[in-house]
Amino acid sequence: MSGSSGRVLVFGLGGTIAMAATGSGGAVPEFSPAQLLAAVPGLAATGVEVRAEELRRVPGGSVRLTDLYALAGVVRERLAAGFGAAVVTQGTDTIEESAYLLDLLHADRAPVVVTGAMRNPSLAGADGPANLLAAVQVAAAPEARGQGVLVVFNDEIHAARRVRKTHATNPATFGSPDGGPLGFVVEGRPQLVNRLPGRTVIPAAAVAAGDGPAGARPVRVALVTVTLGDDGGLLAGLADRADGLVVAAFGAGHVPEWLVEPLAGLADRIPVVLASRTGAGPVLAATYGFPGSERDLLSRGLVRAGFLGPEKARILLHALLSAGADRATITAAFGAAGGHAPASTWPWPTGFAGGEVGSGYAGSIR
Ligand code: ASP
Repeated sequence: MSGSSGRVLVFGLGGTIAMAATGSGGAVPEFSPAQLLAAVPGLAATGVEVRAEELRRVPGGSVRLTDLYALAGVVRERLAAGFGAAVVTQGTDTIEESAYLLDLLHADRAPVVVTGAMRNPSLAGADGPANLLAAVQVAAAPEARGQGVLVVFNDEIHAARRVRKTHATNPATFGSPDGGPLGFVVEGRPQLVNRLPGRTVIPAAAVAAGDGPAGARPVRVALVTVTLGDDGGLLAGLADRADGLVVAAFGAGHVPEWLVEPLAGLADRIPVVLASRTGAGPVLAATYGFPGSERDLLSRGLVRAGFLGPEKARILLHALLSAGADRATITAAFGAAGGHAPASTWPWPTGFAGGEVGSGYAGSIR
């Protein structure tokens, strides 16, 4: 059972929020999470007891999947030791992926909030302190319990499963094109205008029992974006180099007709997930009938990602393969997580860690 939400542990992984400009050499990770907390105006006035723990000091692009599987375990341990919630500070470049992996691995009702910054602390209008304050306020609030991992940024609260980085430089970069934000931070309190109907969690024991990430060899999932005139050269030999593939296809799940056979051949050997490269909206199942259409590809064994974008589909496939999931389990999981099959198709039992059973743990996903 988790402790009081009044005790929040802030993990630091690095990112722009922790960077400082080095003369003419550009910004690099420099500050510990304790230093970040010390620079947040108004934090003491919240009355929340905050502690800091540094795990990495790297740019978002250098966070590894193994770091995140390890972090999920550390979060579990610290919650069991009495912390009520966790905040993770990291580079925004990979937040949409890391937050989703942490969400898939977080069975507890305790809030876990991921945040960062677009402007480093040396810049005018640095957004790190405001984002960190809002993240702590959300993490400590009872309203945030049971919603899985959240991304709090620019006073918006996003579900990890939906959030996307939508702009390279704008501090309002995070959005949830499919569903909208769960809520907003208003005068220091979270106001949820939507609630997640359920959770999709892969139990830690399943991941530990699978082939990875601690297994004999790392699980590798490739992501290939299909482009106009694509000759399919990148697909050749992929089954020998990857355990799974996500295809970021055109529109609602379409590829050039000459890529159908190569993809079908790959799908005979490894799981191949069909996602959309558009940035919003679902992969369809029953609309188009041309060679290379979604109907064609799904009939040849590709797995439908639904509303999951390519990067999140890759994260889900990695976690599933790490848990040793077979093809039927993978298809069922994508049905529930992608929003196009009943939530009851999620392959693992419902129920929260620590005996807290939430009514919506495996309710419908979207
Ligand atoms: N622009 C990135 C950030 O916001 C850099 C990184 O991901 O580390 O943190």
